[in-house]
Amino acid sequence: MIAANNPNLKSWLAVPEGSDFPIQNIPFGVAATEGDSPRVVSRIGDHVIDLKAMFDFGYFADLHFALEDFDTDSLNNMMRRGKQGTRDLRNRISELFSEEHELKDNQNHLAQILISVDKAEMLMPVKVGDYTDFYSSEQHAYNVGCMFRDPNNALLPNWKYIPVGYHGRASSIVVSGTPFHRPKGQQRPVDAEPPVFGPSKQLDFELEMAFVTYEGKPLGDSISTKEADDFIFGMCLFNDWSARDLQKWEYVPLGPFLAKNFASHVSPWIVTLDALEPFRVSGPVQDPKVFTYLEYEGNKHIDINLEVAIQPENTDEKVVSNSNYKYMYWNMNQQLAHHTINGCNIKAGDLMASGTISGGEDTEYGSMLEIAWKGTKPVQMPDGSERKFILDNDTVIMRGYSEKNGLRIGFGEVKAKVLPAK
Ligand code: MN
Repeated sequence: MIAANNPNLKSWLAVPEGSDFPIQNIPFGVAATEGDSPRVVSRIGDHVIDLKAMFDFGYFADLHFALEDFDTDSLNNMMRRGKQGTRDLRNRISELFSEEHELKDNQNHLAQILISVDKAEMLMPVKVGDYTDFYSSEQHAYNVGCMFRDPNNALLPNWKYIPVGYHGRASSIVVSGTPFHRPKGQQRPVDAEPPVFGPSKQLDFELEMAFVTYEGKPLGDSISTKEADDFIFGMCLFNDWSARDLQKWEYVPLGPFLAKNFASHVSPWIVTLDALEPFRVSGPVQDPKVFTYLEYEGNKHIDINLEVAIQPENTDEKVVSNSNYKYMYWNMNQQLAHHTINGCNIKAGDLMASGTISGGEDTEYGSMLEIAWKGTKPVQMPDGSERKFILDNDTVIMRGYSEKNGLRIGFGEVKAKVLPAK
């Protein structure tokens, strides 16, 4: 077992009941505090842990890290130390914050190491080099296929052979809390008539998880499903905002473009794949049988409870979906193996999103397109208004956590407010 995953560990730091961040989590992120430059941090309970300060005090002296791994505004340097390097680091942090460790009595050090979570501004955790979005939830693909084709031909012929994906835009991936303007663009609301231009009328969220990679292999080499775990650093929540009306008009023949690249939001804490190991579960039987390079052994899916809420301005939020990451048809190992089977190289800090995660029940759908079924089943909000898609000044909030035998490892949340079009 990975030492930091020991369910019996307790921290000398108080962890509030139901926290996403017990000592078994030890996620990584980037934070700024007033007067200090951005730095790499971790978190236990409601305390942010300054890893630059810890490095300066020598707590990582025997590990293979340098100041520039922590005194920086992204996790990319740290991730270049690879799976074993970051595993050793997480184990060390766990040890230092476990009961009985003398760090708890070193008030001089703690004054510089611990930051209250409400005093830390969480920044974009990763400099994303390349961003890929998959389309790996069968229920989502089926629902969309039913709406735009018919139930008998809902899945396209390639869907159960290929983990379908596309290359998205990295520059517009932003951290939770960053507001953005409703996109404008071309739409064709009536099929028989010419297109129109204006603010999107069908702005939607997509409930997704994303994984961040370590440095991969040289161009030309591939990563097998068996090797994939060693190339995945961790995961975060991901909202792949989508303008459905722009998407419908533009996507043939080359796929998503301006309907997707105006903003995508990530949660600020990267939860390591190591921390998620206790929550592995089996995936669906894949029929037809997949090609050999997509076969995998063991449990490679992960049980992560997911929730989406919409909060109109000045009123209570309404939860509109409860889904789970375990519903994926294709797992991360298969996605990474497929991504590299042609020799495509991946780099430290690449981000790969799952695709919208929908479950089999209509309470488990991962987009408004599905929840309100193309606008035919509007959702009632607490203030009496209704939603077919997302309106100006709405805030969309996604949350996620794994839980088993009383241990909860969570992601916190990713939230963003939609401002009117510019
Ligand atoms: Mn997507």
